[in-house]
Amino acid sequence: MTETTRGAADRQAGAGADANEGADPDPDAASNASGGHACRVCGRAFPEPKLLVLHRGVRHAGALTDGEKEAYVEAYREEEAALHSFRIRALAVLVVLYFGVLFLYIGFAG
Ligand SMILES: [Zn+2]
Repeated sequence: MTETTRGAADRQAGAGADANEGADPDPDAASNASGGHACRVCGRAFPEPKLLVLHRGVRHAGALTDGEKEAYVEAYREEEAALHSFRIRALAVLVVLYFGVLFLYIGFAG
């Protein structure tokens, strides 16, 4: 079955969409997946609760309760720290690659 015919069959069947769970990247089809964390405002599903907290803070900032705001601030700080760590590691890899290629060039061409 092709992707096009499978998508059309899902739209017609509706409830039969969970037959191809895991292989279908369509977020609408995955919103009813078991264990998913669905947004109560827009219904979008997320595989991890932290992603749902970040989504709520970014997309529905006006509809947050106090507890959800605290959870968002905490998740935002964690995400920021992870991004900072990633940037430092990426910079280190670039520096090592740059000087590695430079010294290889000097060794072979010099
Ligand atoms: Zn949402």
